[in-house]
Amino acid sequence: MSLSLGCTDRPLRVAIVGSGPSGFYAAEALFKAKLSLEVDLYERLPAPFGLVRYGVAPDHAKIKNVISLYEKITRDQRFTFYGNINIGRDVNVGDLKKFYDCIIFACGAENERHLGIPNETYYGSHTTTEFVGWYNGHPEYQNRRFDFSHPTAVIVGMGNVAMDVARILCKTVDELKNSDITSHALEVLSLSHVKEIHVIGRRGPVQAAFTPAVIREFGELVDCDVVMDPKYLEINASSQEELEDIEFPSRKKNFEILKKYSSLKGAGKSKKLIFHFLKSPIAVEGAGRLEKLVLEQNQLIGKAGHQSVRGVGQMEEIDCGIMFRSVGYWGVPIKGLPFDREEGIFPNQAGRLVDNGKVLPGLYAVGWIKRGATGIIGTNKPDSEETVNNLLVDITNLKGCECPSRGQLEEFLKEKKIRFVNYQDWEKINAAEIKRGEFVGKPREKFTTISEMLACVGK
Ligand code: NAP
Repeated sequence: MSLSLGCTDRPLRVAIVGSGPSGFYAAEALFKAKLSLEVDLYERLPAPFGLVRYGVAPDHAKIKNVISLYEKITRDQRFTFYGNINIGRDVNVGDLKKFYDCIIFACGAENERHLGIPNETYYGSHTTTEFVGWYNGHPEYQNRRFDFSHPTAVIVGMGNVAMDVARILCKTVDELKNSDITSHALEVLSLSHVKEIHVIGRRGPVQAAFTPAVIREFGELVDCDVVMDPKYLEINASSQEELEDIEFPSRKKNFEILKKYSSLKGAGKSKKLIFHFLKSPIAVEGAGRLEKLVLEQNQLIGKAGHQSVRGVGQMEEIDCGIMFRSVGYWGVPIKGLPFDREEGIFPNQAGRLVDNGKVLPGLYAVGWIKRGATGIIGTNKPDSEETVNNLLVDITNLKGCECPSRGQLEEFLKEKKIRFVNYQDWEKINAAEIKRGEFVGKPREKFTTISEMLACVGK
């Protein structure tokens, strides 16, 4: 007679793929369940914490404090970390299924959405994924080059990522030097000639996707004035209705902050952050590289809550040397799993993966790859709990995996010559980074290559 999954003699074996917030919240929810289980967390880099380490802005140290909560989860005896393993490349999903009863995909959404305009990828036009990854020390983006020799930079998009990038460009070296930005990025930014940073929103200030806490910070910049034309605050009736909607209090807070900015005279600071609303990028132009961005003015159409834009045929150009496209994220497909190309997610029903409407037993999703790239870090907690609750309901109907032991798994990884790092290895890397940071007055100096991290632990 086979043992039921989750009893003492046959612990439930769960793999979580991705060590960002949604992965850790899934592990936390599993550990609260009253059953015997083992949770193995996979990460393609040797360092855990995903977006908290490589996405959260370096000057937002407080947001990164959430890592201490994740560290607590790693201390659970039932937890194991397998870093430096890329699921889908080093180990395929079929192989992983042999070792786990359930697999939860927490692999985020790293691809950027496209604008779909001519010459979008000209030299000088970058995705924010590249830039954020570069200044945060992500090993896969260290070979990117950013040319800050022109006085004007443009950022397309009005979300929090766009605002993070704007803030990094607006800040002085002194405002950044004690953060965990890489030394290389700080050096490049210290030589920047950028004086004007234009942020472009296709809709109006009421529809902006940023949050009040993030735009409030622009009022505190040491050497950058904020320019907000009051004409953008003259809104149509539907926008007024959206502004008054008590279900979205941040709209009003955003509006008040922007109103305050519109009344500022300018203090003669050396940089300017300039907000543009109701403008869509139409084309990138230049002699083989970005030299100007062409914009068309828009008007809002549609009912309150569903307003979209229509171009009014009036064009405008911004001469610029660098541009960042920040218009939302898109998941990366994994071989062997279904992918919803329209939404950029793994198709799922409340976290259960589905293929053509049919539930795939034992396969689940959490976080951005489940719901799309929305929400703040805390949004992932209830999201992961929903998936784990469904997983726990499902286990009575699951067939157990072929090889339910870590010993067999590690044999397999060794046979495949995969140099994985465990959590103790990561702790050594972490300690070394903190030590490197002490010399330069930073919380840490990150290793920016995988080989440096592996060398640090003798692998
Ligand atoms: P986002 O919040 O979805 O914002 C995307 C922006 O791009 C919107 O302004 C959107 O305008 C615009 N856009 C989309 N398609 C466009 C097009 N074709 N042309 C022009 N503009 C276009 O995405 P995000 O900034 O990448 O942020 C992702 C998530 O991470 C968000 O939930 C965000 O709050 C979160 N985040 C939080 C923090 C923080 O709390 N500190 C920091 C970073 C990120 P429309 O509204 O018109 O579509």
